[in-house]
Amino acid sequence: MLSLRGVRKSYGGTPALRPVDVELAAGELVVLTGPSGSGKSTLLMIAGGWETPDGGEVVPHPPLPDLPVERMSWQDLGFVPQSISLFEELTLADNLALARGSAGGGELLEALELGHLAERRPGEVSRGEQQRAAVARALVASPALVIADEPTSHQDHRRAQLVLGLLRAAADRGAAVLIASHDPAVVSRADREIRLGAGAVTRG
Ligand code: ADP
Ligand code: ADP
Repeated sequence: MLSLRGVRKSYGGTPALRPVDVELAAGELVVLTGPSGSGKSTLLMIAGGWETPDGGEVVPHPPLPDLPVERMSWQDLGFVPQSISLFEELTLADNLALARGSAGGGELLEALELGHLAERRPGEVSRGEQQRAAVARALVASPALVIADEPTSHQDHRRAQLVLGLLRAAADRGAAVLIASHDPAVVSRADREIRLGAGAVTRG
């Protein structure tokens, strides 16, 4: 479903990713761990097509959105960016409708305890609620590939379990799900852990 082969990236001559190989199968939930600065976000951005690797290949070639996150094709890829990146001028419900290409997503908002906030704009809800809305947006079009950068970072334990339950369910329906996280709750729900250290795979 997703294959990174010999992918490397440097910023200003400093390697952020040494050549790494990562394989992700349909139906698999994989967590990417490692200390801050170990290259997790860089790997996710390359997998999603927002960063171009200096070498190696990503298969299938990401849609290379060349677009802000808000306007990408959510049918191809569900993405939960660390920055959340909702459309500030749209309600939560309309952010989902834009990703899905039609209305709907009410059940997902309910499942994430956002049903009562559907008509609010991102600036009118908490950071945790914005992050759960970003998770709902990533899942609403049932993409075959889901990439999430620290999707529980603003959640309490109970809400983190709601988020994880939905990401787990997406994998159980056949999606490939790749999550960067430090959260032990995420690691415990994953099928497999890939650990990065200084831009290289140190485990997995
Ligand atoms: P993680 O997500 O594991 O914290 P990152 O992928 O964000 O790691 O960062 C890996 C390394 O690449 C770090 O040393 C970071 O400072 C550097 N880096 C990441 N993005 C950029 C960028 N846009 N410009 C310069 N350096 C960057
Ligand atoms: P969370 O449990 O996501 O951390 P908070 O404790 O920050 O939520 O917020 C509690 C309540 O206050 C939430 O229901 C949220 O909708 C509301 N709230 C938080 N921040 C804002 C805001 N900037 N504008 C309007 N309502 C807010």
